[in-house]
Amino acid sequence: MTRSSILRRESHRARASRAARIGRILARLYPDARISLDFSTPWQCLAATILSAQCTDERVNKVTPALFAEFPDARATAAAPRARIEKLIASTGFFRQKANSLISAARQVVERHGGEVPESMDDLVALTGVGRKTANVIRGHVFQQPGFAVDTHVRRVTYRLGLTRNSDPVKIERDLAAILPPSEWSAFSMRLILHGRRVCSARNPACENCSIAPDCPKIGLKALPSHPRSIHV
Ligand code: SF4
Repeated sequence: MTRSSILRRESHRARASRAARIGRILARLYPDARISLDFSTPWQCLAATILSAQCTDERVNKVTPALFAEFPDARATAAAPRARIEKLIASTGFFRQKANSLISAARQVVERHGGEVPESMDDLVALTGVGRKTANVIRGHVFQQPGFAVDTHVRRVTYRLGLTRNSDPVKIERDLAAILPPSEWSAFSMRLILHGRRVCSARNPACENCSIAPDCPKIGLKALPSHPRSIHV
């Protein structure tokens, strides 16, 4: 199937079968499909995920030990001096905004949920600094609930794979949820993130070394692999 015809002609069932094949290959490539943020409680997962915006997980993991030692849970964070939080998280970037999100979300968790991070999507996205991506990470990693997190890597790779024709994260989530069983959502999205970082990069996708290339129409790319920098996504 050519790249131009794949979205137009591929049936829902065929796309679901292709997604399942891709999922099996990615599962062999990336068997440990978890975020690389360090945390030991639901609140710490939420806090680390907020801090990971526009920042590497490695950098977040360098600041959270001191942050969680001083402010281990939502109650402690809700009562924390803002300046102290800002100082502890400064190296993650956008630290004033992130400190505000942490303290506001902590107060909401305490006031609305008795200090326990809620499980439902509606309750999670109502917290300051928590969008659907963060909520899906928390649901998948803390509560073992279906959650398809869409970040910049997932957005790029699913588009190139022809698993969606949308660029809006909510629509991408909906498209992938329609062709994957809920039990696969969390792991599939984590594996796409890893594949986007390691193989299907934005500027220089390594299609010639990609294990899922036989199932990829490479939508949005042209002149690959001889001119791998000529991309549109
Ligand atoms: S074949 Fe190329 S475009 Fe498709 S997933 Fe692999 S690296 Fe990305």
